Amino acid sequence: MNEVCRKHFPKPIRITLALLCGLAVCLVSPRSLAQELKPSAEKRPAMRVPITHVERARYPVVDVHTHFLVKGRHDQELLDRYVEWMDRNGIAVCVSLDAQIPGKIGEHIDFLWAHHQDRFVIFANLDFLGNGDRERPETWACNQTGFVREMCERLSNEAKRGRISGLKFFKDFGLRYRNADGSLIAIDDPRWDPIWECCAQHKIPVIMHTADPSAFFQPTDEDNERSTELKAHPEWSFAGSEYPSRASLHEARNRVLARHPETIFIGAHFANDAEDLQELSRWMDTYPNLTIEFASRLNELGRQPYSARKFFEKYQDRIMLGTDGPFPEERLRIYWRFLETWDEYFLYSEKSPPPQGDWRIYGIGLPPEILKKVYHANAARIIPGVADRIAPFLSNSP
Ligand SMILES: [Zn+2]
Repeated sequence: MNEVCRKHFPKPIRITLALLCGLAVCLVSPRSLAQELKPSAEKRPAMRVPITHVERARYPVVDVHTHFLVKGRHDQELLDRYVEWMDRNGIAVCVSLDAQIPGKIGEHIDFLWAHHQDRFVIFANLDFLGNGDRERPETWACNQTGFVREMCERLSNEAKRGRISGLKFFKDFGLRYRNADGSLIAIDDPRWDPIWECCAQHKIPVIMHTADPSAFFQPTDEDNERSTELKAHPEWSFAGSEYPSRASLHEARNRVLARHPETIFIGAHFANDAEDLQELSRWMDTYPNLTIEFASRLNELGRQPYSARKFFEKYQDRIMLGTDGPFPEERLRIYWRFLETWDEYFLYSEKSPPPQGDWRIYGIGLPPEILKKVYHANAARIIPGVADRIAPFLSNSP
């Protein structure tokens, strides 16, 4: 080849050709490398399967898990735009979980209810730190005498006035909140018993986020199936020995459920056990006061569609819809598609790369009677304030 080249092309042209070849190699390599690194869920599937475009939920929806305090701010424009999206997508009511006691509860209620009282109900959450020094847990509000009594008084008062419909606990409860001596606060510490009792007395449910997906408690190595997102968010990893095990957090939560049978608990994110529906099934059977919602768990449910469908059939009276939004409409429509259709092998998020695992999901085609329960009937029964708000939507519904 070199001989042929030498014979047919003069030296300057040969040099130019060599340079161009080098340049081509440089340009092509990084691209093929990127191609290699592309998550497989994002690659173009060769398979052709039917696609159902579900623009709007088939029945009115109550989204029991949303956050309308974004980075400590109330954004009126976002709220007004989201209400328009709710209208377009068939969401009748949202539950906002961000009314902090004693902090911004008044501001939060005013923000949501000034123009949209008919579309939002509100859960409170407790300010464990107060004005304490982040580095010194002995200064945190939760470690001062009278904290629980004050919280119960405030909760009772807000519940009696109909301003709150429930109480939210974030995952920090069990993973980050500390006792005065620096040890982690136990979820089943009897100190909190009056709070669970107070919620039972006022018939307001407690939504609790306990632990996280199992990958977050495993080493963040290449064998971790969610290593990509954990590398992007190292703060999501609880793999170190400084954290309690995932199982021990679930056990502590379950002891609270057992000790307070009159209190209704909502296990946020499918009680953070959508990856093991057999275990979750045992919890559901053992604790009749446990209900669940599946915010941000389509990734886990949709890759085991047969088991998920059976689970929804069996526990159809105790599952509610949550999203962890406000999310863009593209994401909301994936919820409808997952629940209502038998579509196969679709992306569970509009984001690229897929944010919660490199795979695609399958729909579970729920029948109308189960859809209605999951979309709104269970929430209307369990969460105060929802039934009144959903009523006008139901009268126009199929
Ligand atoms: Zn959330």
